[in-house]
Amino acid sequence: MAVTDGLYRAVVDHDRRFDGRVYIGIRTTGIVCFPSCHSRTPRRDNIEVFFTVSDAVKSGYRPCKRCRPDDAVRRPPDAALAAAADQVIGTRFPQKVTLTELAAALYVSPRHLGRTLKRVWGMGLSERWDRRWALHAKLLLANPSLSIAKAAHLAGEPSPSLFSRRFRRIVGITPRHYRMQMRQEGKKHE
Ligand SMILES: [Zn+2]
Repeated sequence: MAVTDGLYRAVVDHDRRFDGRVYIGIRTTGIVCFPSCHSRTPRRDNIEVFFTVSDAVKSGYRPCKRCRPDDAVRRPPDAALAAAADQVIGTRFPQKVTLTELAAALYVSPRHLGRTLKRVWGMGLSERWDRRWALHAKLLLANPSLSIAKAAHLAGEPSPSLFSRRFRRIVGITPRHYRMQMRQEGKKHE
């Protein structure tokens, strides 16, 4: 399994976010650790990634005496996994990220991730992304100095017509109509 940028950053920062999800075997010492272990900071190309300590032990690694990696440590709770997924979506936004990419970044199976997200969010990844996108698009449209074309560009859509179509599909009205409604709402409050 590949060492992702996120995992390596956690190893360098002794960040616990991957603990219990993956274990790192260090080729130079033959020791397997939690990613957050404080004993040492291995070079990235010396790391081998495992889902369980027993897999690492089968491959000849010895569990670290300092961090004492243990398969009994539970995976992080569902809410934490969903929050981590939101974070990854945020760093890519407005680019879309697939469930497979997201699962690879978080070191979980796509099946487990898909089910967890549905349970926590009450909706699938694409609907979650759509809602986030719509919120972003609405904020852009609320800025009267932005043209629709400029808003489309900032929302990651190559053309205003694609932007309009997507906006309408999710929000139910066109961007122009949405702007008009906003203006009328504004007047009511004056
Ligand atoms: Zn360790």
